[in-house]
Amino acid sequence: MENKNDELAYLYDKTVTCPVCESTFKVRAVKKSSYRILGQDTDFFIEYGKINPYFYDIWMCNTCGYTAMKHDFPKIRESEKELVISKISSKWHPKSYPNIYNVNIAIERFKLSLLNYTAINASSSKKGMNCLKLAWMYRLTGNKQLELSFLKNALESFTEAYTSESFPMYGLSRFAMLYLIGELNRRLGNNEEALIWFGQVIGETNADQKLKNKAREQKDLIRALQKGNVEETLLENDDDKKKGIFSKFF
Ligand SMILES: [Zn+2]
Repeated sequence: MENKNDELAYLYDKTVTCPVCESTFKVRAVKKSSYRILGQDTDFFIEYGKINPYFYDIWMCNTCGYTAMKHDFPKIRESEKELVISKISSKWHPKSYPNIYNVNIAIERFKLSLLNYTAINASSSKKGMNCLKLAWMYRLTGNKQLELSFLKNALESFTEAYTSESFPMYGLSRFAMLYLIGELNRRLGNNEEALIWFGQVIGETNADQKLKNKAREQKDLIRALQKGNVEETLLENDDDKKKGIFSKFF
């Protein structure tokens, strides 16, 4: 376990200007040199050592309440700004957080962000990625029910985004999204649906070979479970803890 002084050393304050109200404020940010990848789950969740960068993924303007994942924060359209002002700013009460964030703070911030995305009718990919990360935060707390609930929301949004938006999406290629939709279906128990999406990845001539292998592994896992010849221990270990090929995406 890292102590608080170590964690503070991995962070710095970054100055950001709010695109909605134009006030300037500081966000907590993780130093690039502090990223340590310990492993990866089959739905692209990365397990980090030292400090968890997911906790610092949300930027929030305490003046007007505009909140989004840092990737999206500067990119807001004029029409969306008006929706933030009318739907968020009018009810906003400033928040205060300690210097170091934990999973519960992260969950609160991802929820505030999701509230903003909903208020501005953000694209399905944005809502999907926000829900996926919220699901991962609940995975960290061990709350399986809420994890699955947000995985389900992520799946619905990504399925919509797959047909209506362009790629890459948060660094994911179209093939990686095919795989992810398959894997979210698998995790939610929609095995037949998952097999169709994995089959599409495998059948794509242009898809990355490692991604195809990953899709084959998950397909084989479903088949094996359907035949009832996989032991419970395997079920618990189906998350790939090795440093994976997807680490570059997030
Ligand atoms: Zn603002």
